Amino acid sequence: MASESDHMTSGTTGGVVTRFAPSPTGYLHLGGARTALFNWLFARHHGGKALLRIEDTDAKRSTQDAIDKILEGLDWLGLDYDEEPVFQSQRADRHREVALALLESGDAYKCFATPEELEATRAEQRAAKQPMRYDGRWRDRDPGEAPEGTPYVVRLKTPTDGETVIQDAVQGEVRVANAEIDDYVLLRADGSPTYMLAVVVDDHDMGCTHIIRGDDHLNNAFRQLPIIHAMGWDAPVYAHVPLIHGADGAKLSKRHGAVGVEAYRDELGVLPEALFNYLLRLGWGHGDQEEFTKEQAIALFDIDAVGKSASRFDTKKLLNLNGHHIREADNARLAQLVADEQGADADVALLEQAMDVLKPRAKDVHELSDGARFLFAKRPLEMTEKAAKLLDEDGRARLVQISEALKAENNWTIEALEATTKALAERLELGLGKLAQPMRAALTGTTTSPGIFDVLVLLGREESLARIDAQATPNG
Ligand code: GLU
Repeated sequence: MASESDHMTSGTTGGVVTRFAPSPTGYLHLGGARTALFNWLFARHHGGKALLRIEDTDAKRSTQDAIDKILEGLDWLGLDYDEEPVFQSQRADRHREVALALLESGDAYKCFATPEELEATRAEQRAAKQPMRYDGRWRDRDPGEAPEGTPYVVRLKTPTDGETVIQDAVQGEVRVANAEIDDYVLLRADGSPTYMLAVVVDDHDMGCTHIIRGDDHLNNAFRQLPIIHAMGWDAPVYAHVPLIHGADGAKLSKRHGAVGVEAYRDELGVLPEALFNYLLRLGWGHGDQEEFTKEQAIALFDIDAVGKSASRFDTKKLLNLNGHHIREADNARLAQLVADEQGADADVALLEQAMDVLKPRAKDVHELSDGARFLFAKRPLEMTEKAAKLLDEDGRARLVQISEALKAENNWTIEALEATTKALAERLELGLGKLAQPMRAALTGTTTSPGIFDVLVLLGREESLARIDAQATPNG
């Protein structure tokens, strides 16, 4: 049973407010993107507010480039925010104000211990194999005992007995003995607020009702709650989401490939809705359903269906899912994405026309773009090795016959071209493939392409015949 000094987090009755609080020290990596997604979905599902806070207090490690990348990544994923981002570094005065209020109320105290003293204590603790933490030496001491002008830090006076219990929305009930929580620093000797203080003050001032974040922050919740209680604030609901592991089971790291979400776009050709869908399924589920649109995700997402065990990131599965989303995506949009990859030669209108036959064959935008390359190839076409093999003497001779038959065909439609080619195959007593293969080679320079009659129609009569004739030579 919990004792009287226990502190419980309480639910809130007002509207839901969530925040995503990245530290801008690098890319928006997958774990961060998923945390952002869960916060955003939870707010949207409950008709609440999704907020963004840039935790840029570590001036040495925070960069503008990282801030830009994070904002760009969130925007690309389609996560929008209801207010301008809060920059933690700009709120130091407010953080200090709370530390001084805690000092005033006796919930914090000045600690005059020198770094050398503290190091000596740590060395003793280390030698005695005790947990290394501040021993509370100034907790009950009269600050007047410190010589005039001695530098000091402000430490939080955390409860020493009982335990703190958190009803975590993902982890369930988690308890920590209050004796485990040290009197940590709120204000450094130079007056600058610590990260732990800043987070709590900002969460409160932003009105956050739910703190959804990686479970590497679960311990921090137990350290943050004493500030909340001392200030008499409402505790948020905590939801600590398990981390993402690589397909090999190890914690996700650079070793597992692309690091920032933009790398999934640029290097793997992933669509944002596919990554959105994939991240959603990493740790959250709705029966066996694999594919979700944004609207479905908003309608269905809730924190109670987030699992407790770590999820595994699998690039193959992501690309598979990406293939599904490519097939669902709007042709004009895909045409533009491919045109952006292809550069000057690309004809967006033609790409859009071709998209229905191109997209079933691609798992990512790069494949889609590769599959479209034949549309803009210049004569004489460059041949892959396999395509060149199909254009042996026999193949080239057949192209002559094909060219003749197609030139006689005035109706340049899939149906008519198919009928003509079939008739020719019958006349020559050949399987249709024996004609289609050299045609494909001549028309696309490859051995894989959409259906050959689709290709003929997309290229048009003139270009198709020119490509066939360029490879056709009479049988000697
Ligand atoms: N800035 C922290 C991080 O990027 C998150 C802090 C929090 O969510 O409380 O890991």
